[in-house]
Amino acid sequence: MKTHPITTLVLMVALSLPMAADNFTPAEQQQISIATPGLFDKSKSFTVDLSVLPQGDWSFPLPVGTAQKGPGLDLTITTTPGDAVKAMFDGRVRLARHVAGHGNTVVIRHGNGLETVYARLRGATVKPGDRVEAGQTVGIVGEEGGKGVCRFGMMVNGFAVNVETFVDVVRKRLRRQSYLFTDRGIAVDIAALGNASDEPDITEGEPEPGAAVDAGTVDIDGELTDYERRVVSAPTKGLFDKSATITINLHKYQDGDWAYPLPGAKVISPYGGKRRHAGVDLKTKPNDEILAAFPGRVRFSGNYYGYGRVVVVRHANGMETLYSHNSKNLVEVGEWVKAGQPIALTGRTGRATTEHLHFEVRINGKTYDPARFFDHKNRCLKKVKVVAHKSGKVTTTSAGQASNS
Ligand SMILES: [Zn+2]
Repeated sequence: MKTHPITTLVLMVALSLPMAADNFTPAEQQQISIATPGLFDKSKSFTVDLSVLPQGDWSFPLPVGTAQKGPGLDLTITTTPGDAVKAMFDGRVRLARHVAGHGNTVVIRHGNGLETVYARLRGATVKPGDRVEAGQTVGIVGEEGGKGVCRFGMMVNGFAVNVETFVDVVRKRLRRQSYLFTDRGIAVDIAALGNASDEPDITEGEPEPGAAVDAGTVDIDGELTDYERRVVSAPTKGLFDKSATITINLHKYQDGDWAYPLPGAKVISPYGGKRRHAGVDLKTKPNDEILAAFPGRVRFSGNYYGYGRVVVVRHANGMETLYSHNSKNLVEVGEWVKAGQPIALTGRTGRATTEHLHFEVRINGKTYDPARFFDHKNRCLKKVKVVAHKSGKVTTTSAGQASNS
């Protein structure tokens, strides 16, 4: 059974937009630029984490076209008249009509708070209120001077935003990072997050006695930043400050220094593959106890997009482990946990079709195959020496053999 962390429409709507707005107002169906009701009601800022969006859950609006920046913050995409224009993310069609100066236009409101605009179309293939999936055809490219041309824009709360902030226009790739949107009343500020150097230095302090094997690799008792409390993929600040590599001697760990996160589990979906599965799916039964893999400190505990209820534990050895789709979290942010301590119960919150544990191993925010560190067959820790480089390369050495990524 495949499940993947993803920004599902329903969850994201619950997160940022009122579900009651089931029908768009006449103004919303007529004006391209209009505020998104409720977007900043709960908070003056919100985060969109595109780093956790699986492949296939976003689409370049015209996969076959040639994109150019402009006019303004928009893109002009040139292709063959009659080509299909695709929805960028899952969402609901807010507007589909002819708008003076823009031609036939489709606007989609996405659950993540963004809106996308597809203009100068020959025609729309959707109508207001329709739910659409990423990659679904929403319109047909029109013709201008013998060429097929589509205009593509992005908005937040009615304000046009620079498409290039989110998309590498030349490579037609999504910029996979987190974005913090802040309401400034007359505009929306966007900050791209995810760079460790943007964060203040980690607080120096004595490692918690007995809190971790490999103590001293990273201090985990410092104050967590707002970003670290809010974004599961946050890098570990200060991790490579002292040295460009860190070594994790898993082969020296004794009983009690580690635990298999879900005893008795079998693997139902491995790491990687076409869908770029960010972790391994482990299954036992509903409401089973999930155990902390190593000692550490809870960095995140709460709901996060398609992950559902999720716990992230930061370990002093430089790793982080993530436990998601939980029916219940048993720990809070900032709490210290021991290896083997129950931290959550298995569930199917977020995007999951069965009760299971989606387990991730992260180093500096990046995911690595948990099978490099855990033997899922024997449900134990692997006797390996791990060397992680600042570049993201990780070497695991076992009995004279090394594997790289
Ligand atoms: Zn999974």
